[in-house]
Amino acid sequence: MRKDITEDITLCITADICNAVFPEHRDINRWDEIISAGIRLEERLAEIADDYGNPPEITWFVRADPSMRKRFFSATFLFERFGAHLSRFAARGHEIAWHPHLDVQSLKREMNELPKIVKNVRSLFPVESVRIGGGFHSIELMKLVSKLGFAADSTALPGRFSIDIGTPFDWKNAPDTPYFPGKSDYQFEDEFQESGIVEIPFTMLPIKLDGDMPGPSSRYMNFSYQAEHFGSGVMAKRNWSDVLVGIIHPAEIVPPKGTSNWHKLLSLCEEEPVENIKFILERLRSLGKKVRFRTINSTQSEIRDKYMSHADDTSKPEVGFVSRGM
Ligand SMILES: [Zn+2]
Repeated sequence: MRKDITEDITLCITADICNAVFPEHRDINRWDEIISAGIRLEERLAEIADDYGNPPEITWFVRADPSMRKRFFSATFLFERFGAHLSRFAARGHEIAWHPHLDVQSLKREMNELPKIVKNVRSLFPVESVRIGGGFHSIELMKLVSKLGFAADSTALPGRFSIDIGTPFDWKNAPDTPYFPGKSDYQFEDEFQESGIVEIPFTMLPIKLDGDMPGPSSRYMNFSYQAEHFGSGVMAKRNWSDVLVGIIHPAEIVPPKGTSNWHKLLSLCEEEPVENIKFILERLRSLGKKVRFRTINSTQSEIRDKYMSHADDTSKPEVGFVSRGM
């Protein structure tokens, strides 16, 4: 019984609707290109099945934040403009989630705006999961998203940190499996926080590029990488968590016109994510794993169920689990 559980692997395919590696701009046509790429991606991925015969459930993290408000006079511009497409995704079993990019230089001011933005997003889509742009997080921000009722956050880049003044982040101590972030340190598990938000970290792959010294760098699992690099990272990875999270930015598979079609790591093409997902499925099967596609929200719900059944288990000390009304 126990063995079956450990051999099952949950694979969360996530897609961020934002500009990714390309610069920000005001061009509405570019957002139309990005969502169109997302729609084509969803159609292609629907041909892949997990080990239970089901197509991918994709979690779509859609941008809504103060800088979108400044650009388009509405923070929820993307939810409004592409509402019909997003509703169709939701009807097909995908999850619609929230993706704010924040200006870390004016964080306090931007955080003050977030409750209203979330309220507006929820008047359009009942978002339950959040991913902060650029890998950023903080104690206050984790508290805020938890207070706003988010069930899951999927931002963590275990082992990575950046001291870049514009895009700082710190996940050097974060575990690579889902955990309940502590109130005094979001990178540590707090066993008494089980009624709060669940952090569902990215899966990291050891990928070596020219210039990486001395060995491979730990990079988040991006299905848009060139197949050669993605495959080398998958083959080199030693320990797989039982919950895996990978990302696709539709923006990265349709580069804006006039930009270079070459990147040292990204394929910048639409076929690669399909091939890379097929590749990881084969690899996990060869290791005796049984893969299930899940959204971030269904994953957090299963994690809570597991904790509840453990709490019922007399072999483990009882913990004060408070149901979130599910
Ligand atoms: Zn983003």
